[in-house]
Amino acid sequence: MAGIAHLSVGLAAKPAAPRIPVGILILAAYGIDIVFLGFMAAGLEHFPKEGVVVSAPWSHGLFMAVIWSVVAGVIANLITKDQRTAVIIGLLFFSHWLVDFISHPMTAIFPGAPGLKVFFHDSPEVGLGLYRTQLGANLFEYGTLAVGLGIYIFTLIRLRRKKKLATEE
Ligand SMILES: [Zn+2]
Repeated sequence: MAGIAHLSVGLAAKPAAPRIPVGILILAAYGIDIVFLGFMAAGLEHFPKEGVVVSAPWSHGLFMAVIWSVVAGVIANLITKDQRTAVIIGLLFFSHWLVDFISHPMTAIFPGAPGLKVFFHDSPEVGLGLYRTQLGANLFEYGTLAVGLGIYIFTLIRLRRKKKLATEE
């Protein structure tokens, strides 16, 4: 959970994956949160609430994030039969953990929120805590969004130019 920074990563991945629809790239960057929603529906993980310390090791723990990233890559490989696509989807899944590692514990948004677990509930918590302040959160969210959008738009222009050149030949 780090808001729009994951969206930024999905957008920024476009030049590495020009043939994958950007919606898929963005979805993959949010993949760990989709896993979280599944565990939430099952009652195993919960949204941070004021005064309640909740960690979500099954979706957001480092160990499980690696597992989900590999699983996503394997599924992408089965569907597309393209190893490059599979690696990009796997890396995007793992980018979610890296962004959350930078931002957690995000106490400016959820007071009392914990860091990320390395393994499961009884393991150490990690995180650089950039979202301990609202300023840090805003700078990172909007800064990455500006960069991600810039890269995405630049890539679209470049791809269109390439297409045009190809049809003119
Ligand atoms: Zn998350």
